[in-house]
Amino acid sequence: MSYEVRQYQHFIDGEWQEPAGGETIDSVCPGDGETIARIARGSADDVDRAVAAARRAFEEEEWGHPRNGPARAELLRAVASRIREKRDELAMLESLDSGKPITESSMIDVPSAADTFEFFADQVSGASAGEVLPVPGDVLDFTLREPLGVCGAIVPWNFPLMFVAWKAAPALAAGNTVVFKPSELTSVTALEVARIFVEAGAPAGVFNVVTGFGEEVGQPLAEHAGVDKISFTGSTAIGREVQRRAAGNLKRITLELGGKSPNIIFEDADLDQAVSGAMTGIFLNQGEMCCAGSRLLVQESVHDTVLERLVERARKISVGHPTSWETRMGALISPQHRRRVLGYVQKGVEAGARLLTGGRAPIDPELAGGNYVEPTVFAGVTPQMTIAREEIFGPVVAVMSFRDEPHALALANDTCYGLASAVWTRDVKRALRVARGLRAGTVWINNYNMVGPYTPFGGYKQSGYGKDLGRAALSEYTQVKNVYIELADDILCLYE
Ligand code: NDP
Repeated sequence: MSYEVRQYQHFIDGEWQEPAGGETIDSVCPGDGETIARIARGSADDVDRAVAAARRAFEEEEWGHPRNGPARAELLRAVASRIREKRDELAMLESLDSGKPITESSMIDVPSAADTFEFFADQVSGASAGEVLPVPGDVLDFTLREPLGVCGAIVPWNFPLMFVAWKAAPALAAGNTVVFKPSELTSVTALEVARIFVEAGAPAGVFNVVTGFGEEVGQPLAEHAGVDKISFTGSTAIGREVQRRAAGNLKRITLELGGKSPNIIFEDADLDQAVSGAMTGIFLNQGEMCCAGSRLLVQESVHDTVLERLVERARKISVGHPTSWETRMGALISPQHRRRVLGYVQKGVEAGARLLTGGRAPIDPELAGGNYVEPTVFAGVTPQMTIAREEIFGPVVAVMSFRDEPHALALANDTCYGLASAVWTRDVKRALRVARGLRAGTVWINNYNMVGPYTPFGGYKQSGYGKDLGRAALSEYTQVKNVYIELADDILCLYE
């Protein structure tokens, strides 16, 4: 397939701007390797310009001042509604750029991005609300929540459009301005959102997009003395690096990192529902999800039944081109990433796990140009195996069995990560006991992957800290000022 190749520059200070270095990067469709867009290759100079624009919008235009609250809410609402109007176009671009099936882009990514902008439009007034404090004496004391200033966002390639909403919407609602750095592999929809900001009448400089490589754009952004906060989503290794680079001017940071999330099925669960949840947990977005349910823990008495149903349904998943409405699993992001995923499959086999289905590229010659991997199920996995410990970030589930509740919890928590988890049971007390015992930022009971604008999302342990989404996200983008008002005529003084 060949496509009309779209050309994009950086979006800085309300305008499309050439990269300082004059170079571009081709963005290819993971489904067939064809170029779909050409984006700007950014540098520290471009980051400087974007940060200066964001600073000017924050300080001179007073974007964060309470008087601009209604304008902020109106802008976010207009962005949400324009995203909905452009749903078909954005869904197609997202699938072409990231490899995910068009059914997912159009039913999940695009509507969810719009919902997130709308949710944070509703939060604008609450974002600055403080509290009156019961300070003893003839005193009135209250707090204000104020924006931080210029916020940098650095995101990966797995949910490119949703991440614009996750990062920009709460930051802007709270009165900050934004410099956004998408993955160079999937920058198209972030740039289309920049176009939407123009159409929605955004003041210049409040939302900027600088595209390019991590070391050439992400790193200068993380280090920049003019940036007050970095919100990062990506791998734990780069998260650590960003944390180190952001330390120069003590930036606040939010880190949403990797995971190896346990999905626990007890014998009393509705097993059909649980298998559906296991499929959604690991096969949505080709398994390229930080919260993927990549460790499926099944109670011994129902282990074989669950496995049989899971394998049968995994074999039926139609792997295909991301733009086909028949496709239920698209292509992995890049040939390198597919090699990495297949390398993990190899490690699983070598360690003695039983490969029940998948573990290879599909044999269909029509898919030869893309980065496809069949849905893959491993059984007989032990906790020490690499496939049980490391984030694979592909459609590969490691199934383990457990005896009882304490054993399930011990296995579930035996990881350096703590992003998400799920438990399937009809016993409400067990569900709540296990939810309390799980060391993870999210616990789903009798469902999986239910992430939305209302619910805070972020990790425990080495899955990072801070929250995207929900009202909790607003506190990531505001700081508290205390205002003390003396009402007494005589104040205590120790000096004559
Ligand atoms: P990375 O963590 O490498 O990249 C995330 C973002 O950080 C990208 O925009 C990247 O830019 C940027 N970046 C890279 N290096 C630096 C740096 N030195 N300073 C600042 N920013 C930088 O994730 P990848 O996309 O490469 O994925 C690798 C692995 O990370 C996956 O296989 C998976 O295990 C995990 N991952 C986790 C995700 C999650 O949601 N928790 C999401 C995606 C990946 P660029 O892409 O342009 O290099």
